[in-house]
Amino acid sequence: MLRSLHMKLVMIMILLIMSLMIVVGAFLINSVTAFYMEDFYSQVSDVFQDPLLYHDLITPSEEEEDGADQLFQVLNAYAGELGVDNRNRKLYILDGSGVVRVSPDGGDVQLEYTENLTFALASGLETGEVGDESNLALDYMDVAIPIHRGGEDYIVYILDNKSTSNDLTDQMLVLIIEALIFGLVISILLSFLLSKTMVTPIQSLTEGAMRVAERDFSKKIKVPSQDEIGVLTDTFNDMAGQLQDTLRQVENERNKLDTLFLHMTDGVVAFSRAGLVIHSNPAANRMLRRAIGPETTYEELFGEIAPLERALDTPDHLEGELQVRDSFFQLLMAPFDRGRAGGGALAVLHDVTEQRKNEELRREFVANVSHELRTPLTNIRSYAETLMESARDMPPEMEKKFLGVILNESDRMTHIVQDLLTLSRFDSERDELKLSKFPFGEAVRDIYNAVYMEAQKHNHTLTLDLEPGLPQVLADRERVIQVMMNIVSNAIKYTPDGGRIVLSAGWERDKVWMEVDDNGIGIPDADRERIFERFYRVDKARSRQSGGTGLGLSIAQEIMRRHDGRLYLVDKAEPGLTIRMELPVAGPEEGGHEG
Ligand code: ADP
Repeated sequence: MLRSLHMKLVMIMILLIMSLMIVVGAFLINSVTAFYMEDFYSQVSDVFQDPLLYHDLITPSEEEEDGADQLFQVLNAYAGELGVDNRNRKLYILDGSGVVRVSPDGGDVQLEYTENLTFALASGLETGEVGDESNLALDYMDVAIPIHRGGEDYIVYILDNKSTSNDLTDQMLVLIIEALIFGLVISILLSFLLSKTMVTPIQSLTEGAMRVAERDFSKKIKVPSQDEIGVLTDTFNDMAGQLQDTLRQVENERNKLDTLFLHMTDGVVAFSRAGLVIHSNPAANRMLRRAIGPETTYEELFGEIAPLERALDTPDHLEGELQVRDSFFQLLMAPFDRGRAGGGALAVLHDVTEQRKNEELRREFVANVSHELRTPLTNIRSYAETLMESARDMPPEMEKKFLGVILNESDRMTHIVQDLLTLSRFDSERDELKLSKFPFGEAVRDIYNAVYMEAQKHNHTLTLDLEPGLPQVLADRERVIQVMMNIVSNAIKYTPDGGRIVLSAGWERDKVWMEVDDNGIGIPDADRERIFERFYRVDKARSRQSGGTGLGLSIAQEIMRRHDGRLYLVDKAEPGLTIRMELPVAGPEEGGHEG
């Protein structure tokens, strides 16, 4: 409370009034006393400078008995002019030895030997000098005048006890105290007035500043006047406005960064110089497959701390690689706020697992292609060489057989190359589907008819089981037939002679399906997932022997994918394999064109 500006103003006003009153009072009282004294001495000097009086004082009358008494009589006539009232100011006549001869009170009076009296008695009587030294500090004032009269020495002594002046100053003191109280009341009232004009706008400015400190920019402070406080308030309002704009911009930027940080696919982790995590985004948590918190250290996430230390000192950024279980990351580290207390390094993780896998697949694919082509090529070359070396000695049947092998192998190569071309067209999305509506059931029946003879050759029992009312589908007929053919041929190929193969087809709501079920060699569990991979074959020798390339199922699955359909293995307990294809009746959602 005492610290408030309002109280300070009141205190200042009170102190101001009090000090003013004290100074003025002191001056007044002092000057009243001084005036009273001056008046006393000038009265005395005026009276005693009167030549007539002086004559009467020094000249004794003829029948005079007591000079002192006579002197008193003479001077008593001047009592009014001298201000002698015999109460506060008294007249005494002393003889040369300092004995009081006449006093207004009568009887023996013993006067105090004041400075002036002592002076008059000591030297005044000889020199005629008057003892009239004045001193404001004394509580009396006096004058001692030496007189020679009729050969006798007398001292006329006038003593004033300052009572009149003291009464006056007392009254003035009372007056001053009254004025002081009045002044205090006025000062308090004035300070209220002042606080209204000065403290109120400062208070509202303070409240406004507190609101701004709490980020509340909703209210502007009213500008009370055009004085300095008004200008200050105006400037404060401007400043608050600018601050609000800047904060909004900063917040905007931060929100943008936060959103980016939250949704970016790359993982970002910020580390302090000590290697503790300051911040991390969900992608980083996901990639590193663990919760990252403020307690997590660099070592826990990335191992050795040395790269972080190097990154903290690098002017630009460092790049590295990181493997977390079966995932690969490109690690980029850059320092931030280098050399400053809150600085550290930022680690950005870019997932390159897919890239790595693709590279691996490509490498594998190239190796597979080379291998697949090399085998028939080696065969062709060796048969051709043998033919050339022993052309004359070879029986014509043998020659024919050799040439047959050469032809077969080159057919195989053509087959492989054709399949590869198909796949490459699919990969580059160059091959558009030629969509048309055709009855699905009919297509299945066509396949059944086409492979019937082949199945017969192997003594297989081939059954067709079509649900009634199979609808028309919108699809690329040729491609769909290719898929059907591939899975049915596989069933024939991978079922030992005399097997049982069931070709069934049906439909449900918006899709049609065809299933090929055989009781052949089946596929071991470990291989089931991989048979749709390019060149993947469970038994390479057997597949090759039957003219397989290992590309058929991957092409078939790609065709189904492009139709928004599916091709998958159905789980079954009995030996053999069930493979199922599904197609949407309405055709793929996009891609291809109706033919
Ligand atoms: P291929 O040209 O070798 O037949 P596919 O891509 O058509 O190539 O088939 C891949 C592999 O899947 C085959 O090599 C074979 O091992 C296996 N497979 C496919 N269909 C069957 C089936 N009905 N029964 C057993 N194995 C099969």
